[in-house]
This record gives sequence, structure tokens and C-alpha cells, in this order.
Amino acid sequence: MLDKIVIANRGEIALRILRACREMGIKTVAVHSTVDNNLKHVLLADETVCIGGPPSAESYLNMPAIISAAEVTDAVAIHPGYGFLSENADFAERVESSGFVFIGPPASVIRQMGDKVAAIQAMKAAGVPTVPGSDGPLGDNTDENLRIAREIAYPIIIKAAAGGGGRGMRVVHSEASLVNAITITQAEAGAAFGNETVYMEKFLETPRHIEIQVLADNHGNAVHLGERDCSMQRRHQKVIEEAPAPGITEKQRNFLGDRCVQACKDMGYRSAGTFEFLYQDDEFYFIEMNTRLQVEHPVTEMITGIDIVKEQLRIAGGEALSFTQDDVQLRGHAIECRINAEDPKTFLPSPGLVQLWHAPGGPGIRVESHVYSGYRVPPYYDSMIGKIVAHGNDRPTAIARMRNALTEIVIEGIKTNVALHQEIFQHSAFQAGGTDIHYLEKRLGL
Ligand code: ADP
Repeated sequence: MLDKIVIANRGEIALRILRACREMGIKTVAVHSTVDNNLKHVLLADETVCIGGPPSAESYLNMPAIISAAEVTDAVAIHPGYGFLSENADFAERVESSGFVFIGPPASVIRQMGDKVAAIQAMKAAGVPTVPGSDGPLGDNTDENLRIAREIAYPIIIKAAAGGGGRGMRVVHSEASLVNAITITQAEAGAAFGNETVYMEKFLETPRHIEIQVLADNHGNAVHLGERDCSMQRRHQKVIEEAPAPGITEKQRNFLGDRCVQACKDMGYRSAGTFEFLYQDDEFYFIEMNTRLQVEHPVTEMITGIDIVKEQLRIAGGEALSFTQDDVQLRGHAIECRINAEDPKTFLPSPGLVQLWHAPGGPGIRVESHVYSGYRVPPYYDSMIGKIVAHGNDRPTAIARMRNALTEIVIEGIKTNVALHQEIFQHSAFQAGGTDIHYLEKRLGL
């Protein structure tokens, strides 16, 4: 068992990790920037280390400062949370070579999954369904590229192998613009990611976003915890997530889940991870793997009763998974709303002093937030200030509970997207379930 860990993150996820540690008797070190000494988990941690100035590059992305903090506090492991350094293979490598445990997968696997072409090849080998596309990177033979595109059939999408955050992609609707699109995407990818490699995929026009949560240990065991539907998005940012995905059958879940488990075993995966798919016309298409804990992990926890963060900590401590696939039972339905400090109409960030924070409650309501009355939201980081999760025996109950919660929550002093959530929960299309990834933007007239 781990004795003491560094939490290399901030906000709600740092608090989530701290709570798991406290339940398990693991001591915590909160590393934070100079504007973050009033964060809730910093106030609650056993030890704190200020690692640098407000910009992330000086603090939460500052690898030597984070590793030094582990050294001076005698911590044994580092949890990266999500975002920041969580999918940085170089960081994972430096953590391990400095003698600490990286709470996540091996650096080599992070690197492999960070190269989308390599990731797709690994998935194909494990029988995971992928998007029809070029078999590997595109070369500079124009005739060959035209042939591949014709075979896939337009529209197609050119994607950077090293892309991330919804960048490095270009949709092509007809042959006339293909060659130009490849050249531009290659140049953009080179400038943005230092790697010009691009590949081609069929562009799916009305997909849903469905993802599979997995957990794997160091002893060759891997399980899946079912799927989540994260189709409610704006600018590739998820806004609402739920589990299970409306309309997905047990047979589909098991088929996809088993393939992901196989892929984990084949690649020597460890810790929590997520396989992301587009789903259209009853078919699943792998797009990428996230080698870390995700924002939306609580909806899966609510329907499985499995604490994903505690499992990560146990696995990092060398323990074997304490349950098998057969022990994973899905109960009811859970929905999560991301609460952002932003204008609900213009989406501009709205940092500042939270004069009043009143959290919702009642049966099936879980609030994950570091905010309290008197807390000042700094302007330097992501605008998400918390998440509300509603669980119920079925989807209508979860929706009814979330609607209550959205009415009860009071946040004064800053603007938030609560009104947007209230509106979405009135939509009949959302209530019916199964909307595609373009629904929200279309509905908002964006
Ligand atoms: P990133 O790593 O930048 O998030 P992804 O490969 O996950 O890149 O793609 C981001 C988003 O781009 C997807 O969620 C989806 O909305 C869109 N997208 C990616 N590939 C396709 C595709 N083949 N067809 C349609 N949309 C796609």
C-alpha cells in the first residue's frame, strides 16, 4: 500500500483524489501555484508545497518542481489527475526514473496511445472496431491518396497522428480539395505538435460519442466498467455525460467491453483508462484512448459501486484487482453536469469571488467541487468549477433528481452555465436520449 502521495493537480479532481487517499489512510501532499493556496484540497492536505507562479507552465506543468516536491516530502507516488501532465509520457518516465510510482499506465503505453496511428493499429490487432481509413500514415503519393479517399468514400477527415484537444483535423467533402487539405493539415500538425504525420478516416456525419471505462492491474487482470455517453458537447468539450448510454444493449456493451479488455491485456495496460468511440448506425468506431482518469468517471462509479480512484491507488500500490468482470453489475442510471464559471450565453470565462455557494442535495445527488462561499476562482485555469452527478433506479429518475439539483444550487458572484443545463434538461430530444454530438451546437444556433 502507498504511504504518501503527491497530488499533481488542482480543483475538484485534486479534492476527489485527496478524499480517496483519506479513506484509505494514505497521506497527501498538495502541490499548488501561488494563487491556489486557498484551494479546498490544499487546506485539507497533510502537507503542501508551493511549486510556482500562476501560469500552468510555471506550476502544474513544471516537472522538476513537482518531482522535487515528492523528494522533499518523502512521498512514494504521484497522481497526475486529468489534463496537465496526466498524458505526458516524458513526465511518467521522469517520475519513475526518479524512484516514484506514476499513478497511471507505463510511459511506453502512454506514448503509444498518444500516437493515434499506433493506437489504431493496436486496436485493430485486438479486434476493436476502428473507423474505415488509410492503413497507417499518408505518404506523398497523390494518386495513392486519391485512391484511398475514393475507396473510403467522401466525406473523409484528415487527422494528425499527434493531434489532441480537437485540433489538427480537417474534413474534406470532395476530391477537388483533398490534396490541398492534406498539405495544410500536415503543415499545421508540424507547427502545433512537432510531427507532420497525418492519416485519413471516413468522416461520420451524425455520430454519438460512447466510451468504455477500463481498469487493469500489474498482474495481467483487466475489466471494463461499461460505457458512458458523452455526446452532449460544445466545441469538442463534453457538457453532460451519462451511464449507461441510452439504447445500448447488453450484447453491444459486452462485445465492445471485451474487445477493450483484450486490447488492455495485449498492450500491458495498467490503471484506469478510457476507449473513445463514435457510434453511428449501430456500429462502433474507435477514435482514441485516454490513458488517465476522466472528468466523467463518477457516472460509472455511481452505477457500478466501484471507486475508480481508490482502485487506481490500489493498483499503483501493486495490488491485484479485487473483483472480476462477473462482479461488475450495472445498477440504475447516472448523469453528470459540468458546472463552468462562464457566461451561459457567450461562454466567456467568468472568474472572480464566489460570494455564495449552496450545494444541492437529496437522494442520489453527488457534488464534486472545490468551491465554497468566499472562494475566488482564478482566471488562469480551466473554467470547470465542479460537477453535479444524479443517480437513480432509471434514467427518468436520474433526470428528475438532476432537475431538482439544478434548481437548488446557488452560486452568486460569478456567472455559471447552470441556466444552460436547466434549459437542456427541458429539451424533449435530451429526455428521449441518444442525441448525436452536433445536437447541442445546432440547438444553440452555433
Ligand atoms: P482529440 O484527440 O483532438 O480529441 P479525437 O480523435 O478524439 O481527437 O477527435 C475529436 C473529435 O473530432 C471527436 O470527438 C469527433 O467529434 C470528431 N471526429 C474525430 N474523428 C472523426 C470522424 N472520423 N468522423 C467524424 N467526426 C470525427
